[in-house]
Parts: sequence; C-alpha cells; structure tokens
Amino acid sequence: MSKRRRKPKSTAASDVNGEESVVLRETAPLQLRYYGDPVLRKRAELVTEITDVERQLAVHMLETLYATGNGIGLAATQVGILKRLIIVDIGEEDDEAYEPLVLFNPELMSVDGEIVVEEGCLSIPDVTAEVKRPERIVVEGIDVQNESVRIEADGLLARVLQHEIDHLNGVLFIDRIGGLKRQLLKDDLLKIQQAERPA
Ligand SMILES: [Zn+2]
Repeated sequence: MSKRRRKPKSTAASDVNGEESVVLRETAPLQLRYYGDPVLRKRAELVTEITDVERQLAVHMLETLYATGNGIGLAATQVGILKRLIIVDIGEEDDEAYEPLVLFNPELMSVDGEIVVEEGCLSIPDVTAEVKRPERIVVEGIDVQNESVRIEADGLLARVLQHEIDHLNGVLFIDRIGGLKRQLLKDDLLKIQQAERPA
C-alpha cells in the first residue's frame, strides 16, 4: 500500500533478524510489478518452511519498499514472487524502537466494524480511492523467527494488513470500489497498463 509522503530510510539485515552476523546483504531494489501484470492476479502459495531464502526475500522487499519513498506495505506478489509473505512499515520516522512487520502466511481470523479510508497501491501508481473495509481485525501468521504471531489491529495497520493480504489472493483495492468509481479511474488504469518500463 502507498501513502502520499514518506522519508526513505536505510535497511540493514538486522532490521528483521536482530543481529548483523547473518548471510543477508543489501541489494538493489526488486522490480515492482504494475497493474496489468498477470502475476498480480494470481494466488500466492503458502510458505512451508522459512529459510534464509525467505528471510533474504523479506529484507529485499523492505529495501524495495523504502526505495519507493511512499510505501508502507508490500506483498511478495508485487515483486513477482508468489509466496505468502507481506511486509508492513507504518512506523513513525522518529520512532527508533519501531520494527517493520514481516509476516508469512498471514490470515484474517476475524473482523469487526466498517470504515472508509483512502488507499493507494505501489502497483497502481498515482491512483487513489476510498475503500470500505472492516475497521478492526485479527491476523495470524508466522514471523521471521518461525514463531506464530497474532496481531490485533485497527487504524492504518489494520488497513495495510488487509490490503497486503488481498494481494496474496490476487485482489487489488480497485476491485473493492463501486463500478461507477472504477469507471472514473479507467483512463488512469489504462495508462499504467500501457506504460513502457525498463525490463
Ligand atoms: Zn497494493
């Protein structure tokens, strides 16, 4: 998911591992996939084992997220990898204690309430729309240490989690708005679909 403005920040392997003596290294950002790319419509596979490969993917996804400058969440699907992995960082820029969230096999366990919030997506640049979703949610998944986690969320975190879990099921936020509103975005979507991008 994207937001209008965000200061980029650097990522180190320690962000998701707690120590720097791991094999992870920094690399260039991964290639983002954009609206019109068929991979965005596929269902991602469950991650059966979390190895260094998956942990490294999470680090690379965080780098990719921070490189966008306005991203607050990313699903592996958006970099063309059909594994059920999402990352979220809605941390305040001056909150040193904040850790990005890395979640494998995230699953929406329960929802409550309803709220309309404006959403954007890194795969659908410069398009935003108001989307109605549950306000409070409970999500379960597995963290980088292979531990089960349960997250009770509301506000922006609840919104980003639902948006990213949707990606793992091939669903985009524009699927969740009315047909009339989507019609208004038709030209913008077509432009994204037809844009030439470096391979
Ligand atoms: Zn998105």
